[in-house]
Amino acid sequence: MHITSKLPATETTIFTVMSALARQYNAINLGQGFPDFDCDEGLRKLVSKYLNDGKNQYCPMAGLLDLREAIAQKIERSYGTIVNPETEICVTAGATQALFTAISAFVHSGDEVIIFEPAYDSYTPSIQVAGGIPKPYRMTLPDYAIDWNIVENMVTDKTKMILINTPHNPTGTILKESDLLALEQIVKDKNIIVLSDEVYEHLIYDEEKHQSVLRFPNLFRQSLAVYSFGKTFHSTGWKIGYCVGPEHLIQEFKNIHQWNVFSVNSFTQYALAEHLQNPESYEYLPQFFQAKRNLLNERLKETPLKAQLSKGTYFQLYNYENISQEKDTEFAKYLTQEIGVASIPLSPFYTNPPDDKVVRLCFAKKEETLEKAAERLSKL
Ligand code: PMP
Ligand code: GLN
Repeated sequence: MHITSKLPATETTIFTVMSALARQYNAINLGQGFPDFDCDEGLRKLVSKYLNDGKNQYCPMAGLLDLREAIAQKIERSYGTIVNPETEICVTAGATQALFTAISAFVHSGDEVIIFEPAYDSYTPSIQVAGGIPKPYRMTLPDYAIDWNIVENMVTDKTKMILINTPHNPTGTILKESDLLALEQIVKDKNIIVLSDEVYEHLIYDEEKHQSVLRFPNLFRQSLAVYSFGKTFHSTGWKIGYCVGPEHLIQEFKNIHQWNVFSVNSFTQYALAEHLQNPESYEYLPQFFQAKRNLLNERLKETPLKAQLSKGTYFQLYNYENISQEKDTEFAKYLTQEIGVASIPLSPFYTNPPDDKVVRLCFAKKEETLEKAAERLSKL
């Protein structure tokens, strides 16, 4: 049988590669982004309660209404925006599915999608499976900033979507209000959808405010925003998230969602609907993760690794040019094998990687894990 792959050049994701290497060398895994501490006990009890209470059959296609209502309340509280839980929210099997579904729904063969590299690694394959053409804007050191005049010049009559991510994985940068306003101007009166990956909405530091597309009424009319409970509630293995947008876009989103997922697992939706009622369940996150970021940076201050201060996400970039001139993939291997700490290189997130000497460390870890990793890294 002859198979024509839709993704002939695709490779195993760098997260899986680095986690496997970490296991092989018994390294502390600060590579793949997941917490090494458990999610809230109350939330776990709710999941168990609903599982044992018989909430084990199909939920509505767009998600349990109680959960959509709780999400709408959270959005109003966080961004001052009122969204209709009946028509403007769809619960998904994690953010990855939400992104894939949004791209499948709107990107047709030959359409162009502007992405910002280094880009989360599911974007390009998702666009390619839809027959779309990724158009990367290349962000680099010193600050990974975006020049919106260049973005404007990248727009053609084939541009169907602009995919943004704030707070940004892997760089830890955030978009400012002025960035969102510039984007709003670019897409105004054009047939372009903004797909906004906001899975780290609550992981933002130094008193900064997350600039969601949901805060900008004109932009919102052309946008879909994607979220993940895996990030917000330290439960990356549950794979549950949601997509928010105006009714005309969510309707089309659901047209695809219905045929590739139909509905997401039931008992976690009941549990999350109840847990979300309490804003304390997420409002502590900036202080909680900022303390971890600061701890790691403090402990690494005396090493030759230079931090590129993370403003959001649970990732921190470190510049290693004082130690080595090796490529980031080689340096990440060396760190894992010889120093015993796994990291993530940035070059796999680019179509044409620059020669930046940086690797990403994840600080969503127990204090003792961060201390142990810092002790190993202090040998550098
Ligand atoms: N977008 C970004 C930027 C991410 O970092 C991740 C996962 N870490 C996802 C999407 C996917 O989220 P999920 O695990 O909910 O599919
Ligand atoms: N999003 C996580 C990260 O950036 C990993 C997700 C995955 O392993 N696919 O590390």
